Amino acid sequence: MNAQLNVDLHSHSLASDGLLQAHQVAARAKAGGVDVWALTDHDETKALGEARAAAEALGMRFINGVEISVSWTPRTLAANVVAPAPVAADSVRKPRSASDTTIHIVGLQIDPANPVLSKGLKAIRSGRDERAARMALDLEIAGIPGALEGAKKFAVNPELLSRSHFARFLVEAGKATSTHQAFFNYLTEGKPGFVQHQWATLAEAVSWIRAAGGVAVVAHPGRYKQLSQPQLNEFFAEFKDLGGRGIEVMTGSHSASQYDHFAEVARCYGFLASRGSDYHGPGESHVEPGALPPLPADLTPVWHDWF
Ligand code: AMP
Ligand code: MN
Ligand code: MN
Ligand code: MN
Repeated sequence: MNAQLNVDLHSHSLASDGLLQAHQVAARAKAGGVDVWALTDHDETKALGEARAAAEALGMRFINGVEISVSWTPRTLAANVVAPAPVAADSVRKPRSASDTTIHIVGLQIDPANPVLSKGLKAIRSGRDERAARMALDLEIAGIPGALEGAKKFAVNPELLSRSHFARFLVEAGKATSTHQAFFNYLTEGKPGFVQHQWATLAEAVSWIRAAGGVAVVAHPGRYKQLSQPQLNEFFAEFKDLGGRGIEVMTGSHSASQYDHFAEVARCYGFLASRGSDYHGPGESHVEPGALPPLPADLTPVWHDWF
């Protein structure tokens, strides 16, 4: 293993909610100095072939990846759990648990042809259509018609309609000045276009990744603000018990103090450490591919035994 390699193991293409085709993301990664690159589309592996061909043509190593959406409920309900948003009488929202959190698990070095993984991912993708219809209905009730058709115009992969596509529609419709503002005002917990959704269980996501020969890594652990510290600890312990191996320490949405904090979490739990920009495309990402600081030298990188 060469400690000097620039490794970026988290990014998205138009096969999920990125803005660029896989070969264009490869070119951005190369331009950012990346030596080893993974594409990790949400719940989808269809662009991995294109990504690998483009990466190898550019002289980068390519790692097959995926980012799986998980719904996780802690056993321990801490005092600071946010209460569920009030449900409007005419809303189609299902009752939900106050403790249900969406968590993303990245699978790296997966075999995308593995039937356990591909069947599991297909099942999660299929739930997105119904969620999108409920989101559009909620937005219509809030005075914004046409959101389903509007969002679909931005989704190149019809099986992967994402909140990001709704955010782009809301910007286009003049309801928000940025996708970030669209999330803040419409698409996050308690806001008019947010609907609770049941993704894979943590056990399913980790088992699919392992069945496909991959390594399971917690994506951007600093983003699960709904979880208290004890709940996040419970999550890490459960993830490890299930065979999860790594966490992202360096990721586009972490602050410098979160780099330090999650480096310490990796040491405490014996997790492998990962580094990934979570690049979605120009104007929608915190950092460019390859631009994050390196991992702290004492951590074991998730790629330590790959090459
Ligand atoms: P979905 O899987 O359809 O629920 O969409 C989740 C995606 O929305 C994430 O992967 C991000 O790309 C994007 N996202 C979530 N929260 C925000 C936010 N506050 N601002 C911008 N994008 C966000
Ligand atoms: Mn995304
Ligand atoms: Mn994510
Ligand atoms: Mn991501």
